[in-house]
Amino acid sequence: MTLSKLEELIAQLNPQTREKFIRIFEVSQVEGKLKIPKPMQNWVEEKFESIANVENQQIIKIINKITHRGILFNPLRSQRPNQAENHDATLSELIQTTKNGPFCHPEEMTPEDVFGRVRGAYCTTASNIAKADCWHGVIIFNKHDPLDWGENEIVDFLSTAKRWFELVHQSDKTARYPFIFWNCLWKASASIVHGHMQMTVSESAYAKTKLLSEQVEQYQRQYRSNYFNDLYEIHNALGLTLHTDSSDIKIMVSLCPKKERGLVILNNKFDRPLWEHFAKTMVAYRDKLRIKTFNVGITLPPLDNLQTNWNLPVMIEIIDRGDLSSNNPEIGGMEKFAQEVISRDPFRTRNLLTS
Ligand SMILES: [Zn+2]
Repeated sequence: MTLSKLEELIAQLNPQTREKFIRIFEVSQVEGKLKIPKPMQNWVEEKFESIANVENQQIIKIINKITHRGILFNPLRSQRPNQAENHDATLSELIQTTKNGPFCHPEEMTPEDVFGRVRGAYCTTASNIAKADCWHGVIIFNKHDPLDWGENEIVDFLSTAKRWFELVHQSDKTARYPFIFWNCLWKASASIVHGHMQMTVSESAYAKTKLLSEQVEQYQRQYRSNYFNDLYEIHNALGLTLHTDSSDIKIMVSLCPKKERGLVILNNKFDRPLWEHFAKTMVAYRDKLRIKTFNVGITLPPLDNLQTNWNLPVMIEIIDRGDLSSNNPEIGGMEKFAQEVISRDPFRTRNLLTS
């Protein structure tokens, strides 16, 4: 299955699911045309296989009408010439050259939080030296190589984050809204190569979280239906979900991702079964998709459970940040100010992850 067959797939959905699809998504297809001059023809055939594919390009547009986010999908763009300068050294050599920085010696070379450090089996925490929020910590992996982790390590990182959140909240009752993010390598905006995740706790929910919470609440009011359940039902019917051992844990290859090869994992709790499913997913993300640079964001409910109108599940979002050998960040004016431009087919991503 490919995204180009989406219209056919939608037509085959059962009426209830199709109604939900139409409620949430708007899909359209346009054709971009151009003419290749003779001197370019050989090069185009070599690069893109066929001149016809380039002269008539199919672009699929998907908009999520609830979150007002959208994608412009053109698979041809993943084959377009990249003129950014390539790095010479191989990745692992490059990673080795960054050894012996502060994160290789966290006890001596990184600040600690006012309550001290939390130590896991495979990591230790530090206080972020230049804070994005009043509580901003770092989970420093014991291993330097930011891609050298297995399932046990990831479970340990998240369990350590949970203990850090508890200590923050004990120290400061106004610190209520926890968030975890993981930027892996420079293309994903990591300023330090050594493996690490980051955690913040804020006195109020972040702007994007607030907006999503309001949109989900509005959806619930309007349709008397849970947005995330409907979103999962649609992805499942389209064949864009991954199997889990728990009926509560839901994993989707996003039809309308925030960047290439976006995954979303949902659960009602931030607990060990979720950590284990996330860990397994990340190992497949790295090994089966061969992704080396990525962002992860984990949106969590308030620490004190005082807010009764919290509408969001625990939500883990994962995006691929592309080819590390290219200096092009692949987030430009379109992505920042208009709509995501995507070239990786979610159906292919799902197949690779389950292969
Ligand atoms: Zn290091």
